[in-house]
Amino acid sequence: MLTTRQSLPLPLLPMHVTHLESALDGTTLDADQVQTTHRGRPLWVRYDLDAVDGAVSPSGFEDRPPSMWRYRELLPLAADADPVTLSEGMSPLVRCPRLGDRFGLDRLWIKDESQLPTGSFKSRGLAMAVSMARAFDVERVAIPTAGNAGGALAVYAARADLEAYVFMPADTPAVNQHEVMLAGAHAFLVDGLIDDCGALVDAGTDAMGWLDVSTLQEPYRLEGKKTMGLELFEQFGPALPDVILYPTGGGTGLIGMWKAFDELARLGWIDPADRPRMVAVQSDGCCPIVNAYEAGDRFADPVDDPETIASGLRVPGAVGDFMILDAVRESDGRAVAVDESRIREWMRLATSTTGVSVGPEAATCVGAAKRLADDGWLHPDDDVVIFNCGAAQKYPHLSDPNTLPRLDPDDAVDWNAVKARETS
Ligand SMILES: *Cc1c(COP(=O)(O)O)cnc(C)c1O
Repeated sequence: MLTTRQSLPLPLLPMHVTHLESALDGTTLDADQVQTTHRGRPLWVRYDLDAVDGAVSPSGFEDRPPSMWRYRELLPLAADADPVTLSEGMSPLVRCPRLGDRFGLDRLWIKDESQLPTGSFKSRGLAMAVSMARAFDVERVAIPTAGNAGGALAVYAARADLEAYVFMPADTPAVNQHEVMLAGAHAFLVDGLIDDCGALVDAGTDAMGWLDVSTLQEPYRLEGKKTMGLELFEQFGPALPDVILYPTGGGTGLIGMWKAFDELARLGWIDPADRPRMVAVQSDGCCPIVNAYEAGDRFADPVDDPETIASGLRVPGAVGDFMILDAVRESDGRAVAVDESRIREWMRLATSTTGVSVGPEAATCVGAAKRLADDGWLHPDDDVVIFNCGAAQKYPHLSDPNTLPRLDPDDAVDWNAVKARETS
């Protein structure tokens, strides 16, 4: 049983939410109480879009504070409930001409999520999920994490004064372990993979009475991620880019943005034909979605030995697999696997030509951009957006500073040798 501070139902009514809906079979569920999944699969949050259209227009967001909360009419939190927030969202959309030139792309952009709280876009989903959990008087939340989700949950739980339990594989980057510990979460290292951590959270639900905020195990993280699509709509005009390259683990962002575009189309704010082509990018060290895409399947078989330095992409089986694959196919997009062994090279190429702190997950999209441009699938004048989901600074273990040359201040410096030295 879920532990809440007071009995349900929720005292505050959602603004324009009408109900929740099973993504698998369309079953309708009430939105005024805590819901998780239906038949083990995710739920959509549904809105009265006529009411939204009556309440706000596309230009109505412009004068609001630059965070994801500017889209309150399209979010599930009740109008009179305060969000749990660190001003996440409205990340910069950065034009990248030097990187684009390498690939023959005139209009290459990076949506730079590395600047969000906790250095990754996990802050969007977890700000939303924790805000909803607090509105429902939930006292305790739990999450399995490859790194960034745990860090984000820990900080928002700290702000909201919720008890957070974080389960991470023992080889999770030290930076992530550090941030979870600092934020005061109950943290555990698990000798296994992220799905083992997920099974632990699931197994503890009865005894611990926590809300499982794993990827797509509750409906609200998706709504937080959806705001990335709403921001692109504002930042492009209002309009949308031609192609989005998305590093896909659990796929929440890709699914969430496709939902945002669907809502914009239903609102009549965009022509459905103008929705971007969605590209799910994975490393060939862990590419269940790409395998299913290539096999023509709607559900993905989990992979056995996921191996990738892009820890956000080390998701052997995604509970929203069919939602990712539906979005990719409906959008005329692709699912693409790139060479694991080149991720560091692409990180460095992207960071050294854009100045953006490009993490290993987004680096896979850099490789995909090159491949798809070479193939002619990307046109030189397409607006192409790469999602930089997390900051490279969170991955210091991917560079080796011991390879840098040392200088002794007491010795005479050979400036010709300094000049000849290649950049690191
Ligand atoms: C979680 C994560 C991803 C994968 O995001 P999904 O929306 O779950 O596919 C990619 N990159 C980083 C840095 C992440 O933290």
